[in-house]
Amino acid sequence: MLSPRLVLGVFLALLAVAPLVLPPFYVTLLNYIGLYAMVALGLVLLTGVGGLTSFGQAAFVGLGAYTTALLCTATELPAWLAWAGGSPWLALVVGLAFTAVVAVVLGSLTLKLSGHYLPLGTIAWGISLYFLFGTMESLGGHTGLTGIPPISIFGWVLDQGEEIYYLIWVFLLAAVFTTQNLLDSREGRAIRALKGGMVMAEAMGVDTSRSRMIIFVIAALHACASGWLYAHMQRFVNPTPFGLHIGIEYLFMAVVGGAGHVWGALVGAGVITVLKQWLQDLLPRLFGQSGNFEVIVFGLMMVIVLQRARDGLWPILTKLVPVKARRKTLDAAAKELPRRELPGKGELILEAKNVTRKFGGLIANNNMSLEVKAGEILALIGPNGAGKSTMFNQISGVDTPTSGEVLFRGKPVAGHDSREIARMGMSRSFQHVKLLPTMSVLENVAIGGHLRGDKGVLSAAWRMDREEEARLLAEAARQIERVGLAEHMFDEAGSLALGQQRILEIARALCSDPCLLLLDEPAAGLRFKEKEALGELLKKLKAEGMAILLVEHDMDFVMGLVDRVVVMEFGEKIAEGLPEDVQKNPKVLEAYLGGVE
Ligand code: ADP
Ligand code: MG
Repeated sequence: MLSPRLVLGVFLALLAVAPLVLPPFYVTLLNYIGLYAMVALGLVLLTGVGGLTSFGQAAFVGLGAYTTALLCTATELPAWLAWAGGSPWLALVVGLAFTAVVAVVLGSLTLKLSGHYLPLGTIAWGISLYFLFGTMESLGGHTGLTGIPPISIFGWVLDQGEEIYYLIWVFLLAAVFTTQNLLDSREGRAIRALKGGMVMAEAMGVDTSRSRMIIFVIAALHACASGWLYAHMQRFVNPTPFGLHIGIEYLFMAVVGGAGHVWGALVGAGVITVLKQWLQDLLPRLFGQSGNFEVIVFGLMMVIVLQRARDGLWPILTKLVPVKARRKTLDAAAKELPRRELPGKGELILEAKNVTRKFGGLIANNNMSLEVKAGEILALIGPNGAGKSTMFNQISGVDTPTSGEVLFRGKPVAGHDSREIARMGMSRSFQHVKLLPTMSVLENVAIGGHLRGDKGVLSAAWRMDREEEARLLAEAARQIERVGLAEHMFDEAGSLALGQQRILEIARALCSDPCLLLLDEPAAGLRFKEKEALGELLKKLKAEGMAILLVEHDMDFVMGLVDRVVVMEFGEKIAEGLPEDVQKNPKVLEAYLGGVE
């Protein structure tokens, strides 16, 4: 097994000597690979990790390129911009700021779109910006702008390919490392949680629209920086490289390389660029006529990749080269996170008053009332279709009652979004498990701790969040031990049995330091032993003063465990009381026997 540090060291050393030993043609090729990889890296974050597909990244590259071209070549700038004229470095700052503004505007217009409307939206603005570059006279129309000066660093003028090479690769490596750091942080988990579904992420306190905007802006900034470097390498710009066609190619690179992996961007950019070069030479000779045959080959290749290797080349490469996987380390000395003051035992935590929920003509909940106190387990049971999940949604604030209200610690739940409710101390699990299967158990649980940290994107990118991160991970580990999953701490969540995945969701909920746990059918799909273990866990939590509401279908599981039971049928409460009494209630027996054939 090779150590990742060694592999990285060798790679960096090869990069450093490459321009000294390679002929200029290859250095130019490497320059392009670096530039493309920077854009593809943004797409790894946006599309691969965040699940938002953009065809429009080339337009952001154009923004970076044109901003610097204009600022560095214009003879007269408006007075308010005069300070930025003539200096590539100042133009970079202006370009990044301008791109960020444009990205926020475009993002707020398009990121709300769901499904295939979002990619269509990115195509729309991608085309618009491209035509803007070509149409504006001050940008030189379709001929573009020439006479862009080279970048200089402390008097060293980077006017040769092998000189700007170093700048390009320093930029790219910095982008790779900061992106990697970001993904390995609290904000990064929030970003990765986007793929686990908005409902789950929001219930864990993640502001999903903010996370989407963050990755959109970061991807745009990466593209802008690539455009800046491109303009000063080429020394002229025209609209051609910033069109939709190239936007598709960037996405192609990210997907071929491995859209979920930061290094995949580099692999994708490398493979595509080299192949393209090679095929452009080879195919016309093979067919004896000129033409863009490589485009056809790429089209076929994409189809094959989508069929055979959806995760791209990076995962295949890591299997071929035996590099030791980096594992998270836990810092036993990390200071414990502050905890919420738990309400005293017996204190009223949750109160639903006359909740009615109608779906058109169907009354899913009719005049439902219930109470849960601290240190108590209440079960809401009833046959399938009784309205339990609907009631659960009214309580957790996912849905709003048609009439009646739900009070949590005396405050109405209606009108608050899931994030605020999570902050107030209500945390939940899901009837259909919602976790991130390729992430470790530890990291899945740590998502639950989102609201207990506050370090943002910049501190994460530059590793200034390590103390908080250690505390969050230590807390997640503690909750994992508490629910008895310690031996699976570093396993992929998707590799656990269903029962363990449900327990994982409880640990994730606990990680938010709640005073009320809402569990939707936690025993469904569990084996006998697992049910027993879950029961023990819930008893333990109850003894610590937690209020627990569980929605259950399984009568036997509930009976030996809970303090009180509310039974529903056809949206109404038909019985309430101690488990042993409810069990004998003729109405309940009928409802259950009627439900079981
Ligand atoms: P349970 O969880 O007890 O099995 P549900 O609360 O899921 O029951 O469903 C209660 C009734 O409400 C069912 O008849 C279901 O079809 C209906 N229902 C639930 N959600 C909706 C919805 N969003 N729109 C229309 N009908 C719904
Ligand atoms: Mg249900």
